[in-house]
Amino acid sequence: MQYQVTKEKSAEYLRLAVNHMTQQDAAFHPVSYAVWYEYASGEHAKLIEEVDALIEKEKKLNEKSTTRLFQHHIAKIDDAGAQAIIDRFSQVMTDISSSTSKAGEDTTQFKNALQSWSDKIQQRDHTSDLNLQAILNQTLNMQGSINNLQSKLETSAEEMVRLKDEITKARQEAISDGLTGLINRKGFDAALGQCLSSYELQLDNLQKPPCLLLADIDYFKKINDSYGHLFGDKVIKAVAQILQSAGAAHQTAARYGGEEFVLLLPETSLEIAEKIAEDIRKKVEKITIKNSVSQAQISNITISLGVTPYLHGESPESFISRADQALYASKAKGRNQVTVISKTMSA
Ligand code: GH3
Ligand code: MG
Ligand code: MG
Repeated sequence: MQYQVTKEKSAEYLRLAVNHMTQQDAAFHPVSYAVWYEYASGEHAKLIEEVDALIEKEKKLNEKSTTRLFQHHIAKIDDAGAQAIIDRFSQVMTDISSSTSKAGEDTTQFKNALQSWSDKIQQRDHTSDLNLQAILNQTLNMQGSINNLQSKLETSAEEMVRLKDEITKARQEAISDGLTGLINRKGFDAALGQCLSSYELQLDNLQKPPCLLLADIDYFKKINDSYGHLFGDKVIKAVAQILQSAGAAHQTAARYGGEEFVLLLPETSLEIAEKIAEDIRKKVEKITIKNSVSQAQISNITISLGVTPYLHGESPESFISRADQALYASKAKGRNQVTVISKTMSA
């Protein structure tokens, strides 16, 4: 039987057919699709009558009743049609096997295969007689393999997503500092390397060089000794927050060591970098933290900072070392201050 149906109509029949199929015991395969497509189209009175009677009696169609309905009401396709169906299914299998990432598209592919198969059935040659059962068995076997393969692929795709998430999480954890949430030294070294190579690779040389700001809490040992290690941790967290909020989105704040911090400022003038450092110093001065033992509010926390610009062509180590010299100078001059080492001073 051949229908002159619009694309929209056949899409509607397809949806209805798939909906019916999902409620049966028979598997989701070309034979049941063909039966339910014919049923949904409403054209095949005898088939509809028999399906309704079967559903009333047995509630659901199983493999046997579906195949029988197909043979009685739809079957008799020509050899070429049968071969086309088999080829199409082989293609679907190959497509599915070709990529696990395409697992999500497999259902669509399968629907397309079903549609094409149904079309072939609708264009069947009534006069041709052939061993239908063999063709059915072959397509059913293939469908079984497809389902099996697809469920394996879906499982491996899920597994791959899970593994990818775990790797991302592990990578993130490896570069972040548990106490402050800032990135750690390892993460910072990677960020610094990237920042310096992108600066060195710029073609027009118009970009300002990055600046580095190194900071170390003053007399931190004394803070620990006076108020305990847990209080010391709170100080480290408070300073980390100030560093974090001092840096704009593209700037990298990191905990470089125990009570030492670093802020990488890409494309920043030395004046701005110095101003940022001064802001940090002032904010740290204002920190007050409650001592949970004595309940007293503790203040007088200070930090020393060193700032320096990147010099074209130098190594990350030499860049960091100059920032460290600047920091050391702040410590030597009495702490709670900012020292800048510019190009000329370091030469
Ligand atoms: P300076 O002003 O010269 O920097 O003196 P300082 O006492 O801060 O310097 P020093 O390097 O001698 O002391 C750093 C101390 O920081 C020693 C160490 O016990 C402490 N520390 C390192 N990591 C942590 C941490 O995670 N939590 C706490 N509470 N203390 C830490
Ligand atoms: Mg230190
Ligand atoms: Mg210190």
